[in-house]
Amino acid sequence: MADLLALSTSVIDGHASEKDVGPMNRINFRLSEIAAGIAMVEAFSHCIVFETDDGLVAFDTSGVNGGTKVVEAIRHWRKDRFNSLIYTHGHLDHVGGCGAFMKDAVDNGGERPRVIGHENVPKRFDRYIFTDGYNVSINQRQFGQFSRRGYEIQDGSSFLPQSTARPDVTYQQTLDLNIGGMEIALKHARGETDDHTWAWIPEHKAICAGDFFIWCFPNAGNPQKVQRYPVEWAAAMRNMAAQGAELFLPAHGLPIEGKDRIAGVLSDVADSLEFLVKETIGRMNDGARLDEIVHEVQLDPLVLEKPYLRPIYDEPEFVIRNIWRMYGGWYDGNPSRLKPAPDASLAAELAALAEGASKLAERGHELMDSDPRLACHLVELAVQAEPDNQELHEIRAAVYQHRRGLESSLMAKGIFGAAANESKDKLGDA
Ligand SMILES: [Zn+2]
Repeated sequence: MADLLALSTSVIDGHASEKDVGPMNRINFRLSEIAAGIAMVEAFSHCIVFETDDGLVAFDTSGVNGGTKVVEAIRHWRKDRFNSLIYTHGHLDHVGGCGAFMKDAVDNGGERPRVIGHENVPKRFDRYIFTDGYNVSINQRQFGQFSRRGYEIQDGSSFLPQSTARPDVTYQQTLDLNIGGMEIALKHARGETDDHTWAWIPEHKAICAGDFFIWCFPNAGNPQKVQRYPVEWAAAMRNMAAQGAELFLPAHGLPIEGKDRIAGVLSDVADSLEFLVKETIGRMNDGARLDEIVHEVQLDPLVLEKPYLRPIYDEPEFVIRNIWRMYGGWYDGNPSRLKPAPDASLAAELAALAEGASKLAERGHELMDSDPRLACHLVELAVQAEPDNQELHEIRAAVYQHRRGLESSLMAKGIFGAAANESKDKLGDA
C-alpha cells in the first residue's frame, strides 16, 4: 500500500515535486489505508471508505466504468456490507459507479445501501436528462483525451448512466448522521456545483471535501458548463480551514494530514478565488467591459506554481468570466456584440477588405507564436468567410493544434484540439 500521506506532505512542504513523484491525480484503482478503518481507492473520482460497526460508508462511487474496479479493490480490504453511499455532488465521475455498489449488494444477498446527497442532486440528474445531447458533446471535448487513453466516464448510451441511483435521503443545509456509532456531519456549500456536500467526521478529525479541493486550480470557471460559485467556494474553504481537521480527504489527488498544513492549503485556494472576485467585481463596479477585465486581472504567477494550484484543469481567466456571468448579464459591454451580424457576414467583409480570406489565414499562421490569441481570430475569420476552402482549413488546423500545445489547462486544450480536429475532418472529406 502506498503511503499517500507521506507523499502529499513531501510535496506540500516542498521536499518533492511532481517531477519526482509523478502526478497527484492518479487513476490506478489501488486502495490505500489512510488511517485505521479509513481507505481511499484512487480513481476518477476517488472512493473514500469508512469502516463502522454497521457496515461501510463510501463517499462517492467513481465513474460508470470505474465502479466495478473500485468495489473489487474495497472487497480485497473489507467484506462488510455497504451501509450508505454519500454523493459529495452529482458529477458523473462521482455518481456513475453507483451501479457496481448496488450489484455488490445483490451478489452478496444483502440489503441495498442507502444513498445520501444534497437536495439539488436529483435536480441535477433531471437537468442532465433535459440537456443530454449537449452534455455528451461537451464531455467529449473536455475529456476526449481520457477516452483515447481507454478511460470512459460515460457508458455511451446516455450522459447519466441508467444504473445511477437517486438519493434516498436528501438534505438542505446540514445533516447529522450516526452510522454504526460513527458520527458524520454533512454540510452543504456551493462551489464547483450547487449540490455539493462536505463532511466532518469528528471521531477521525477528518474532512471529506468532494471537489472543493482537487490538487489543481479550482474548477470555478469551466467554459462549457453551468455556473460555478467562487465567492461561496472561498467561504467554504475558510469554514473547512477553521474546523481543525487533522486529516483531509479530497475526491481527487492525494489526502493531506496535519492541522496547519491543511489550513494552509485551504487558505491558499480561498485567497486566490477571493483575489479574482475582488478584482473582477471592483472593475465591474467601475464600469469596465469584460474584455478589459479579462486582460487586466492576473494572479501572481508564483501562486499558480504551487503544486495544488496549477492551472492544468481550469484556469483563472475562465473564473473571471464566470464571476462576470454570475453578477452581470451575458452582455459584455461591447455594443457591437449586443445584436451582432452573423459571424460569416463580418468574416466575408473583412476578407474582402484584406483582399482574400487566404490573407487572413496566412497572417494568422505568421502570428501563431508571437500572438496566438490574435492568430486564432484570423484563421477563424478566414474559414468563416470561406467554409469550404480546404487550404484555409489546413492552416486553421495547424494554428489551433499549435495553440493547444501552448495552453496549460485541460479545458483550453480540449476546445482548441477539437477545433483543430474539426478542420482536419474537413480535409478528410476531399
Ligand atoms: Zn470530480
